[in-house]
Amino acid sequence: MSEKKSKVEKLRYEKKTVYEKAGRETVAEAYEYAKGYTAFLDSSKTEREAVESAIALAEAKGFLPYRFGTSLKAGDKYYYNNRGKNLYLFRIGTEPLESGMRITAAHLDAPRLDLKQVPLYEEGGMSFLKTHYYGGIRKYQWLAMPLALHGVVVKQNGETVKLTVGENDTDPVMYITDLLPHLAAAENEKPVSKAFSGEKLNILVGSMPLEDEDGEAVKAGVLHYLYETYGIVEEDLQSAELCIVPAAKARDVGFDRSMIGAYGHDDRVCAYPSLTALLDTPDAAHTSMCILVDKEETGSDGVTGMQCQLISDLITELSRALGANEALVRSNSKCFSSDVTATFDPNFADVYEKRNASLIGCGISVCKFTGSRGKSGTSDASAEMVAWVRRVLNEAGVVWQTCELGRVDAGGGGTVAKYMAKLNIDTIDIGVGVLSMHAPYEVISKVDLYEGHRAFCAFYRA
Ligand code: MN
Ligand code: MN
Repeated sequence: MSEKKSKVEKLRYEKKTVYEKAGRETVAEAYEYAKGYTAFLDSSKTEREAVESAIALAEAKGFLPYRFGTSLKAGDKYYYNNRGKNLYLFRIGTEPLESGMRITAAHLDAPRLDLKQVPLYEEGGMSFLKTHYYGGIRKYQWLAMPLALHGVVVKQNGETVKLTVGENDTDPVMYITDLLPHLAAAENEKPVSKAFSGEKLNILVGSMPLEDEDGEAVKAGVLHYLYETYGIVEEDLQSAELCIVPAAKARDVGFDRSMIGAYGHDDRVCAYPSLTALLDTPDAAHTSMCILVDKEETGSDGVTGMQCQLISDLITELSRALGANEALVRSNSKCFSSDVTATFDPNFADVYEKRNASLIGCGISVCKFTGSRGKSGTSDASAEMVAWVRRVLNEAGVVWQTCELGRVDAGGGGTVAKYMAKLNIDTIDIGVGVLSMHAPYEVISKVDLYEGHRAFCAFYRA
């Protein structure tokens, strides 16, 4: 009986947690690794800030700015800063470039509220800033909570003024008002999609009139403050990128501190481990590239999005500089599209299919396909690619699981995978599971984060 049972054990696939499979030493390493990630989160609430944080980490490891036309040799380490919002970091390997590159692609942008170009107005004795939401948000989640303002104002003469308000304990915070329950009788009858209007997401920024000012004196007070503090006038706000993000800092979640709550885990929880993996694998034989991209949350369009021709230009330039056949470089390269997936949430169990959902603590999640309905819009990695990934992760002792975002027809989503696949590069989605994805405060597991880092290290070395 016992012999028969052991035979069956060998045949059966069973998902296990990092705690069961990897042991306490790995868990302790994961907790230590999470400290660096938490610091990265707090200094990187916008893609511009994340690019600055990433460059600082890369320069500390000897990475230099890259210019098109630079000659290259094995061991060279460069980063290409695309307009301050998108970063390409690479290290030339000892293997010929034609044997393929190992590329990870994660995104740095996160759902938020952007200020409109003519944002400032006065109404009811208060001054407000109009916003236009960026990415997929549930609007009600942003009301009645402390918010911060991050971004840049670029003056007509090209001078850039950086603003960060709401992060220090002594700073004022930004705020969006909500309806009191006493007067919410009519609103309570509406579906969530109708009850909260984008045009009501207005940021409260003042209520004191400027002295000796007639008409819109509260707005005048805000303009006066902006000029005295930052030297900017109202028209300067038209050439600005000012973002409203939650003011909260990243914190441990749970009595056991096994999780991290923060704004923007999607997708910094993949950007940070892929970046640190690149920095920590100087022994990688293949040429490694870590892409940290912008505009994923709005469709990967624009000059800083994954659909920009820049990735192609970089592969062309690397091939030229190293005397490699570019078509061979592409066809032999592999990409980890490093983006988050949804962690199974028992509070909303009906939108998941538990056997194929990402479970918390079970390691990094590999998604063969994404998309919605009949896999519409998916890149769908081949069985051969999945087998290769299995081998690489298993040989490195990485704890991993396969997953699908949610139940069939419950919804769906996509990543940058299809834009990498378009370049004739075998690509697979692999990322950390997130609870409350796209909420102002999301939650991830520390051991899943760390398995992400270990997976990306194994990939660069493979
Ligand atoms: Mn994402
Ligand atoms: Mn997202």
